Amino acid sequence: MRLHLFLDFDGTISIGDVGDKLVGTFGSFDILHNELLAGEFTVAEYYRRAIASFSNNATPEAVDDFVQRQQLDTGLAPLLEWSRTNSIPATVVSDGFDVYICPLLKRELGTDDIPIASNTLSFEGGSWRPAFPGASESCSCFCASCKRNVILSKIDDDDVVIYVGDGLSDVCAVRYADVVFAKGSLAASCTEEGIPHHTYRSLTEVLIILQRRMKDNDFPRRRQARLARKRAFESE
Ligand SMILES: [Mg+2]
Ligand SMILES: [Zn+2]
Repeated sequence: MRLHLFLDFDGTISIGDVGDKLVGTFGSFDILHNELLAGEFTVAEYYRRAIASFSNNATPEAVDDFVQRQQLDTGLAPLLEWSRTNSIPATVVSDGFDVYICPLLKRELGTDDIPIASNTLSFEGGSWRPAFPGASESCSCFCASCKRNVILSKIDDDDVVIYVGDGLSDVCAVRYADVVFAKGSLAASCTEEGIPHHTYRSLTEVLIILQRRMKDNDFPRRRQARLARKRAFESE
């Protein structure tokens, strides 16, 4: 049995949603995001439209400048230090973009050795192009980058999945997790679905709870999560 730690990025590791702010800063966020929430198109299509709406001001330098103004939860580094000390692999699972996740994690941690699964955004021939390497046809999640599939690809049958998230892109993933930390709309959705979870405000609180559970050797697997993983493995 091995523990695994999975962390959402926007609103979980970062203060506020950097992806939403990126679109709001350089493109038209309000209309497109409302249309997305109304179910008019997929997240991938939302991103294609949102990035196509970027103005000429969205130079690589301006985007980099925007990225460097973003803040991360100061509990991240101690949490990852704890996971390293206890040989618990940690993975960032995001439905946002590498263009801000990578530099922000590097700035905060001083290293880029944490695995990241996300969408990608690159500047080619004078414009920004999104790509969705983690897209899944076999999952019904509200994601362009399927977090469930990342979890399934990293764990063995009897492992324990710890998941920390805050929003819509985590709703599918937590069904496959044993120990869930949820805030924002994710906490509401967990309550609605009957998924036991810790509510939290910061990653510092997450670490305190994990340290306590570690001391008590209290990492039971959740029956519904195991069944969901088994079903997903069998249907892949
Ligand atoms: Mg989030
Ligand atoms: Zn999925």
